[in-house]
Amino acid sequence: MPPKVSQEWGIKNKKESDLRADFLYQVANIPGGEKIKKCIQCGTCTGSCPVSYTMDIMPREIIALFRAGLIESILHSRTIWICASCYACTVRCPAGIKVTDILYALKRMAMEKGLFPKRFPIFILSKSFVYLINLFGRSYEPGLLILYYLRTNPLKLFSLMPLAFKLFRKGRLALLPKSIKKRKELSAILAEAEVMEMIVPERPYLQAIPKGPVPGFIRPS
Ligand code: SF4
Ligand code: SF4
Repeated sequence: MPPKVSQEWGIKNKKESDLRADFLYQVANIPGGEKIKKCIQCGTCTGSCPVSYTMDIMPREIIALFRAGLIESILHSRTIWICASCYACTVRCPAGIKVTDILYALKRMAMEKGLFPKRFPIFILSKSFVYLINLFGRSYEPGLLILYYLRTNPLKLFSLMPLAFKLFRKGRLALLPKSIKKRKELSAILAEAEVMEMIVPERPYLQAIPKGPVPGFIRPS
């Protein structure tokens, strides 16, 4: 039986249809997100992208794949993780499409659905960094390296020991982490920012936020 054809968005099967519905919901929450329909496939976004040479799917193709209904291909691509959020594509798009925000929404979606390779380095680095910021209120490089390599390639840690020792001797590497004051307040702000970045607020995240107002932040309803 041929796949169902959507007049507006192209061909899609049920799984793709679900993914697309989720994504459209997220895009609808990006101011101006509906302009994605107006892409003229000019390629300016790809031509403006400083890291397109490392991408497996170009920004222009991301929009085309979306319109063809192939959301899952996008979510499995490296592109959404490689995007450096420089906004060059967004600034130069003649159709006013917020390419960066759309890529970010796709990345969020891939994270929520676990659609990325296991031990994927960018995701693990990001998670480790956020974990340490919540713990100490600031970055702690030795801890970041240890967490990152333990989760990706533990053996690599041994080969880095001589370099770490040299850096330590020159005073370039702190042995122990230093915490900031009011770490809990910072964690509350980060948790609130996390909810805002989710675009579509999720209950488990909301429940994880400490009770009480955080100055300057509006809690999603
Ligand atoms: S620059 Fe804008 S209109 Fe051109 S291909 Fe990229 S998203 Fe589409
Ligand atoms: S925001 Fe991302 S996709 Fe757009 S130009 Fe910058 S790196 Fe490339």
